[in-house]
Amino acid sequence: MPVDADTEKFIKVITLKNSVEHDGKAQFDAVISKFMGSRPEQRSQAKALIPEIKTIVQGINALPLADQKSLLEELAPGESTASPKKQAAEQPQLPPLERAVHGKVVTRFPPEPNGYPHIGHAKAAIIDEEYARMYGGKLILRFDDTNPTKEKLEYYDAIREGLEWLGVKPDIVKNTSDDIELLHSYGKKLVELGGAYVCTCSQETIHDLRAKGLPCECRRDPATALERIGRMFDGSYDQNEAIIRFKGDMADQNTAMRDPALFRILEGNHPKLGNRVRVWPTYDFAAPIEDSIDGVTHAMRTKEYELRNALYFAILDRLGLRKPEMIEFSRLEFEGVPVSKRKLKPLIEDGKVKSWDDPRLPTLAAFRRRGFVPEAIRKFVLSLGITLAETKPPFETLEAFNRKIIDPISPRLFFVKNPVEVRIDGAQEKEVVLKNHPTDATLGTRKVKVADTFYITGDDAASLKVGDEIRLIELYNIKITGIDESSGSRMIKAQVGGDEIRQSMPKIQWIAKNDIVEYKVMIPKELYKGEEYNTNSLEIAQGFAESFVSSLKPDTRVQFVRFGFCRIDSNNQAIMTHR
Ligand code: ATP
Ligand code: MG
Repeated sequence: MPVDADTEKFIKVITLKNSVEHDGKAQFDAVISKFMGSRPEQRSQAKALIPEIKTIVQGINALPLADQKSLLEELAPGESTASPKKQAAEQPQLPPLERAVHGKVVTRFPPEPNGYPHIGHAKAAIIDEEYARMYGGKLILRFDDTNPTKEKLEYYDAIREGLEWLGVKPDIVKNTSDDIELLHSYGKKLVELGGAYVCTCSQETIHDLRAKGLPCECRRDPATALERIGRMFDGSYDQNEAIIRFKGDMADQNTAMRDPALFRILEGNHPKLGNRVRVWPTYDFAAPIEDSIDGVTHAMRTKEYELRNALYFAILDRLGLRKPEMIEFSRLEFEGVPVSKRKLKPLIEDGKVKSWDDPRLPTLAAFRRRGFVPEAIRKFVLSLGITLAETKPPFETLEAFNRKIIDPISPRLFFVKNPVEVRIDGAQEKEVVLKNHPTDATLGTRKVKVADTFYITGDDAASLKVGDEIRLIELYNIKITGIDESSGSRMIKAQVGGDEIRQSMPKIQWIAKNDIVEYKVMIPKELYKGEEYNTNSLEIAQGFAESFVSSLKPDTRVQFVRFGFCRIDSNNQAIMTHR
């Protein structure tokens, strides 16, 4: 049906406004509800208008944002600049960076490839990326791979995939290990300058003297350091026989300055360099050097490194290298879920969870598998901002961001947990057409054949008494006439009631007997209750879904009515995203 010119213009204007407010992508739902709200008199034409609106939305979304703005200015002068405030409220912004020059800002995200990326990494990477974009600068992804005993190729890939899914696009990708020779030469130089020395004391001695604030023999004699530095690199020492230590102050209040290790000998097969390198820099040494030589202007890291800032800058000072700005933010943690590879790895090794994408984990792979969308994670991270306050935000906040995005696009379907049979006297066989979404007709409909036998959830069944009247959603009302428990399990008898929908009446989902598939939903719960591992952290809800569900492809998002949002995992299993 061709729409009249006035209606078409009106649809274009509301689509453009919505699009300009959402970075150039109008949301179909928002346009429909705006239209229906503004022109109630045209609601009756909804069926014919929806495809037209859809075409307009698609057409406008295909235009670059700049063209959308000029078109909006042409159709409705003054509207395109009307709502930057609203946009700011919807998309939280980070505060400006100090001493940042437009076009010159370089940030970096430096994960160690010793595990899968988690939501804490998402926070760091998103903040790094947002700042690089805010100043038209660059983001470096630097694999901080200087420990061959912990790192694996699998983890480099997992980190890259996780970031790709998140929509974080680094401008440069590199490995700290690419610069191993350079790092070695800076290490030697520091020893030659008298800023570091080779220590052959036992770990116990080092620990002991550090606690007492006293220097060891190795520190005293500069000649020893020069004589030993060659041997450090020529293979004369075994693992644990010698380390290079920074010459700090053994009595410093800040224990990070009490001659920390800068290099150690590690035997292991490095994923990029094999076993030809044995002397590996510590994070404390590699991070400042790499940041400096990579041109990083603003280095960001979590607050637990705060005491190590003095060391970071002292190393650069002694080597005469350029110093980046250092900015700290708080570590992201959740109640009941560890957000740290160190704590996640043992869970997998001990078999407490199956894999890195187990839906109980806070890894990006798990969020993806559960049905979270990356935009929700970004909005959530930005809403937290870059504060130093310990953030243990409620997990529900992240869920709320996600719900807002998936609610308009998830079809509403029926899953019945712990099913109980309901027989309806005299119910007619018929085919009913069910809407897949209450307001978005573009999500379509589905046909279901019903007869006189249905299933409802065990919980709903348990709450019924003879005489109750309930509504089977989108079907009809039924009146309970009998509850039979003689066979050990409940069976409910009913008759068809009226068609009037009353507010007070329970409205419940159902499955027709000839339309069932056996179905499971994995429900992830908190992994820990206090300090205790929660043995019930993965609940499996068993029941029936309507057969349509088994035709959905893995990855589809649905909302099981009165149950929760889920992501289809296979043809007989879904994972609960959240309620
Ligand atoms: P983990 O305990 O998970 O191993 P990590 O800090 O050792 O954490 P890295 O791979 O070294 O992990 O971290 C890369 C970057 O991500 C660092 O800059 C670190 O500060 C940041 N980061 C790691 N975990 C979190 C978190 N929970 N919240 C915010 N940022 C984090
Ligand atoms: Mg680390």
